[in-house]
Amino acid sequence: MTRPIVVIGAGAGGLIAAGRAAELGASVLVLEKMDEPGKKILISGKERCNITNAAPLEQFLQHYGRDGRFLRNAYHRFFRDELLALLRRYGIKPQTERGGRIFPGTDRARDVRDALLRYAVERGAAIRYGATAEKLLIRDGAIQGVQLLGGENVRAAAVILATGGASWPGTGSTGDGYRMAQAVGHTIVPLRPALVPLTVRERALAKKLQGISLRNVACAFYTGKPGAEKALRLPFPLPPTGEMLFTHFGVSGPLILTASLGAVDALRAGKRVTLAIDLKPGMTPEQVRARLQREFEHSPHRHLGNLLRGWVPGTLADVLTDLSGIAADRPVHTLRAEERDKIGQRFKDFRWQITGSLPLEAGMVTAGGVSLREVDPVSFASKLVAGLHIVGETLDLAADTGGFNLQAAFSSGYLAGEAAAQLAAGG
Ligand SMILES: Cc1cc2nc3c(=O)[nH]c(=O)nc-3n(C[C@H](O)[C@H](O)[C@H](O)COP(=O)(O)OP(=O)(O)OC[C@H]3O[C@@H](n4cnc5c(N)ncnc54)[C@H](O)[C@@H]3O)c2cc1C
Repeated sequence: MTRPIVVIGAGAGGLIAAGRAAELGASVLVLEKMDEPGKKILISGKERCNITNAAPLEQFLQHYGRDGRFLRNAYHRFFRDELLALLRRYGIKPQTERGGRIFPGTDRARDVRDALLRYAVERGAAIRYGATAEKLLIRDGAIQGVQLLGGENVRAAAVILATGGASWPGTGSTGDGYRMAQAVGHTIVPLRPALVPLTVRERALAKKLQGISLRNVACAFYTGKPGAEKALRLPFPLPPTGEMLFTHFGVSGPLILTASLGAVDALRAGKRVTLAIDLKPGMTPEQVRARLQREFEHSPHRHLGNLLRGWVPGTLADVLTDLSGIAADRPVHTLRAEERDKIGQRFKDFRWQITGSLPLEAGMVTAGGVSLREVDPVSFASKLVAGLHIVGETLDLAADTGGFNLQAAFSSGYLAGEAAAQLAAGG
């Protein structure tokens, strides 16, 4: 009997890899440790699944930071249009939203998962659920098969490792792929949480502001001591303005999540990291001062706290006055110019010291993983073990939100499936 291509993991990368390999005539067996496929796809994009993004290729690649270069070749072969064409064959009508985010027209992640499942199964791939791969079996530098938890050996002509990352373990991605790849000689770039909420030194303050979500603010991150600060270089570009939110332990929301990997890495390198929030990015400091002055003159007897509530949510207004050392119930005509300027400055430069992040499991994606130097960027074949392919989040690839992480899993999975099928056919 011919040995099948074994795909480990029925997630985004694994299902598309299985479909493509089976479509090319290969015998394909998918091993999935959970009792259903694509659990992470189901929760993706707030259960709507942000499949990919409409950004042009060059801009798209920037969302992976420096690692974007690695994906260029793959994206020339199988990118957004090819992915959407494939999904359309299974009934998915894509719709594009703000920021170029592409979702299924039905707004249901389940439909994307089911489309991928149909692609794999209707093309002939078999899926074994509750089958946990534990070890890659190799001989003379070539893949022989996979050992399952419990000791059963499954022989394979090629193996596609599509086990995902180590985040959100309830979906089945518990970092197994890193361990299996490392055991056969691959280098694992240290794992870090990406797209993760951050913790702050000023916890009591954050707790007071917990639940407040700010739209249309700007965030900047700095390293170094006060007075000698440098802008922190972030792996993913931050939009000029966006949304953030306060939590009981610190800060979260889109802007913070996007910047989080940069902050996590700087902290790991022993640097001090400061977040500066600009609550009024559309105004210069002078404009903020002038507007405050105008409003003070217009309503001289209003209490400061009350007046500032017209600018920001109530609790935040109180916190800003507190931090400036001014009682919220002071009538504004009693404020000296320096006091007014202090408030204005807080609006433009509201500072927090970042102390860390929530753990790896809480990040939306895992940064780090199998070193890209050890993987071919077109076939996603291991350069160390013949017949092994590694795809998706198991690779040292991470991007910010917007559909970029799933596109990487889909493209790498599809091309690995294709290459493995050619290999199995003796090509
Ligand atoms: C809450 C949340 C929302 C997200 N939303 C989006 C979004 O909208 N858009 C986007 O682009 N990205 C999003 N992501 C990220 C994206 O879902 C992942 O990057 C992507 O699913 C990775 O695909 P993958 O195939 O590498 O791994 P996964 O999709 O995680 O699949 C891995 C599979 O392998 C299985 N497995 C693991 N170990 C074993 C083993 N030993 N044996 C057998 N099976 C195993 C797992 O059970 C799982 O089914 C989101 C992530 C989270 C956590």
